[in-house]
Amino acid sequence: MKISVDYARCEGHGLCADQAPHVFSLDGEAELIYRFDGADVPDEHRSAARTAVNVCPVAALRVVS
Ligand code: SF4
Repeated sequence: MKISVDYARCEGHGLCADQAPHVFSLDGEAELIYRFDGADVPDEHRSAARTAVNVCPVAALRVVS
C-alpha cells in the first residue's frame, strides 16, 4: 500500500499522526513528515495508516495502491 501526500493541502493539525504515529509525524514547525514517502507502508502499519487517511480533514492523504 502506498499513500500520496498533498503537502500543499496539509494544515498540520496532526490528526494523522495521532492515528498512525509510526507513519506520520509533525516536525517542530508543524510540517508533516511521512515516513514511507515513495515506499510501501509496512503491513503492520497499514490499518492505522488507512484510518489516518480517513480522518484527514482536508483530504491531503490518499491511498494510491
Ligand atoms: S491530518 Fe491531514 S491536514 Fe492534518 S497533519 Fe495529517 S495530512 Fe496534514
